[in-house]
Amino acid sequence: MTQASHRQRVVVVGAGFGGLFAIKALRKAPVDITLINGTAYHLFQPLLYQVATGILSEGEVAPPIREVLRRQKNVDVRLGWVTDVDVENKVVSVSGPGIDYTVEYDTLIVAAGASQSYFGNDQFADHAPGMKSIDDALELRARIFGAFEVADLQTDAEAAQRWLTFVVVGAGPTGTELAGQIAELAHRNLTGQYKHIDPSKARIILVDAIGAVLNTFGDHLSAGAQRELEKLGVEVKLNTKVVGVDSTGIEVEDANGRHRIPSVTKVWAAGVSAPPLAAKLAEATGAKTDRAGRVFVEQDTTLPGHPEIFVLGDMMNLAGDDGKPLPGVAQVAIQSGRHAADQIKRRLGGKETGQPFKYFDKGSLATISRFSAVASIGKLRLSGFPAWVVWVAVHLFYLVGFKNRVTAVLHWAVSFIGRGRSERVATQQQAFARRAIRAYGDPFARERAESGDHAALAAADAGAARPATSTTAAEQKQTGTEPLARSTEPGAGSADGSATAAARERLSVRE
Ligand SMILES: Cc1cc2nc3c(=O)[nH]c(=O)nc-3n(C[C@H](O)[C@H](O)[C@H](O)COP(=O)(O)OP(=O)(O)OC[C@H]3O[C@@H](n4cnc5c(N)ncnc54)[C@H](O)[C@@H]3O)c2cc1C
Repeated sequence: MTQASHRQRVVVVGAGFGGLFAIKALRKAPVDITLINGTAYHLFQPLLYQVATGILSEGEVAPPIREVLRRQKNVDVRLGWVTDVDVENKVVSVSGPGIDYTVEYDTLIVAAGASQSYFGNDQFADHAPGMKSIDDALELRARIFGAFEVADLQTDAEAAQRWLTFVVVGAGPTGTELAGQIAELAHRNLTGQYKHIDPSKARIILVDAIGAVLNTFGDHLSAGAQRELEKLGVEVKLNTKVVGVDSTGIEVEDANGRHRIPSVTKVWAAGVSAPPLAAKLAEATGAKTDRAGRVFVEQDTTLPGHPEIFVLGDMMNLAGDDGKPLPGVAQVAIQSGRHAADQIKRRLGGKETGQPFKYFDKGSLATISRFSAVASIGKLRLSGFPAWVVWVAVHLFYLVGFKNRVTAVLHWAVSFIGRGRSERVATQQQAFARRAIRAYGDPFARERAESGDHAALAAADAGAARPATSTTAAEQKQTGTEPLARSTEPGAGSADGSATAAARERLSVRE
């Protein structure tokens, strides 16, 4: 898209916390904003684990961007994945559904977040999906609830236990919250609902290569969180490295050597890396990247030599007061978004610019279970119920949309005061669509191919053939890397994974 405009054209890539808060701060600025996001919704990632464990619906954590910005008249919302940036001509290339387009900018804000990292073992994604997107959370929901259903059908006790063993890799906030919720689900919410299994016999194992749960919260809270998890029935295995993952288990290595944990349902909550766009941007501008692919930015969050390009949130590497890179948390993204907007407004007003971004650390929170959390706010350390109350207040404050706040509170009441899980529905599509899409390739290219466009057929085949490397929607779209077939997912038609070939056959449109 090219258009003449007398006003500053600000292009924002990413409608996460960084992008959205930058845009909101530019509400009254005389600029024309184009927001480009790969999905039509803003995602509140901190509550994804509640979607995966049936507490909240996907709509409650992912409001439509157009609705969120409906009153802001200076924004044009466009769907698509930014694939490249031409910094000379100030143009971004976008791959939308079935249509590629370009957008010109005067100022570019890139806040494309982070992807899952498997630390070079991308093949683990086949059997241990991450939790970065709505697709991930819904697939995990299908796997978690499906595992209990399939376990209930088993006649062999060993197979049943394999289905009733859940392994969460990564004892940071995401892994801790997820393990705690699966434990509550199994030991509290689902008890008494099955005739052939006892869900309270489910094993929930939390594995981490380092020696502490929630290690960034400090020794005291970390030890308390571990005790809380163990009280809930979570087996915490620290200093334990994952060395292999397959359909029916996970291989780990600890001080006693190498062992196998038989388990069908594994979740990867360890490690992040910057999305492919970060590398493209670095290449185009000569900016440096760190080991996780994050882009080193100047103090004001612009790229070296490119004051017109801001990189924000999870994608940027900027040292905080302690000399360490700022953490990948929502507050860093929100505050850096506001800082970028402020810089743009100062430029427009002819004021001095280049002020460094100063991050104000408002603290860290993580829930362990219903009514129990840990909070580290300044010098204050809270755990148990008081921390949980703070957690509820903060999450309600930042959850986007009044309607979502009201329904989230109702769902929390159902799950935490009562014993229900309102969102247990999981469809076949949630469990299998990833590999179906992977086999099928880009649906738009496929459609064109079927109408005789041979170049499109080659593109669709190329998309279908690439190996799995990532679980994020962004990477999937950009690289065509849908995780491979997950033969032992709940509902796959086999309790032990022997249906792999049959499932592949069913799903492959080329055969
Ligand atoms: C499961 C989970 C739990 C978390 N819990 C917490 C928590 O409790 N507290 C906390 O502070 N932080 C938490 N975080 C981290 C927090 O969510 C992130 O730090 C924050 O979302 C970063 O904001 P961002 O704007 O940089 O990126 P994101 O919020 O990730 O947004 C990036 C956006 O860019 C879009 N996008 C990506 N690539 C492209 C592209 N090429 N073209 C167009 N659009 C693109 C994506 O669709 C997305 O909308 C959690 C993260 C996860 C995954």
